Amino acid sequence: MRIANVAGRLNVLTAAGGVDVAEASGGRFAADPGAAYERWDEMCAWADSVDGERAAPIDDAQLGAPSPAPRQVFAIGLNYRDHAAEAGFSLPDTLPPTFTKWPTCLAGAHSAVRLPSDSVDWEVELVAVIGRRAERVGAEDAWEHVAGLTLGQDFSERVVQMSGPVPQFSLGKSYPAFGPIGPCLVTADELPDRDDLQLECTVNGEQVQKARTSQMIFPVAELVARLSAICPLLPGDVIFTGTPSGVGMARTPPRFLRPGDEVVSTAEGIGSMHNLCLPADT
Ligand code: ZN
Repeated sequence: MRIANVAGRLNVLTAAGGVDVAEASGGRFAADPGAAYERWDEMCAWADSVDGERAAPIDDAQLGAPSPAPRQVFAIGLNYRDHAAEAGFSLPDTLPPTFTKWPTCLAGAHSAVRLPSDSVDWEVELVAVIGRRAERVGAEDAWEHVAGLTLGQDFSERVVQMSGPVPQFSLGKSYPAFGPIGPCLVTADELPDRDDLQLECTVNGEQVQKARTSQMIFPVAELVARLSAICPLLPGDVIFTGTPSGVGMARTPPRFLRPGDEVVSTAEGIGSMHNLCLPADT
């Protein structure tokens, strides 16, 4: 199943376009995309019977975050060896470095992002969304708690992120629209291999990041296990799973985003996001 948030309404995606879930289900399911995760098993069973004849074309500009208001957003630092090396950090062993992107920074797949400074960087990431509450779940059962996968950008203001006596990862990565996710959420059964998807990021057409999610130090199941050992994970919660190498701050000289730049992120089997950078005062 593939679902999307179209102008704030939950849609099931078919080859012919989007089917509005609240309308097609006669009100059985709410229009709010976030509500779907509370009744995920029911939703998946119902979606099997969706009639593609009710589908309407989707306007990309209307796409919102597939989980628009999660109670918790987890984001993982240093989940790829080559990125840890380029950032100058040692590898995590038992617990992945974890911060949050506050939910107000979530945005749709094609949202514009205002640059608050000249130190904003890109980070393409696979994003997992929780479909069943997970509390002290083992890695072997973890996928049972994942609704599906989507794509994200962990836009990062590096001066705030690195300032002060301890880093400020969460604040530096939570400006408005710094967390676009989408374009849709895909259940694992629809993917060629849920643990091995190609991720790519380009800036103005130049490829800056390319990796496979099989290179993650802590795969999705391990993240669910290790995070849920501490915090119960709730339906709709979002996990940014970390970025591979190729970020701008690691370049010599560093390269950051400028107004007018277009960041295109792609994940195999999920789709692409286009995020245009705008000046701070627009
Ligand atoms: Zn990141």
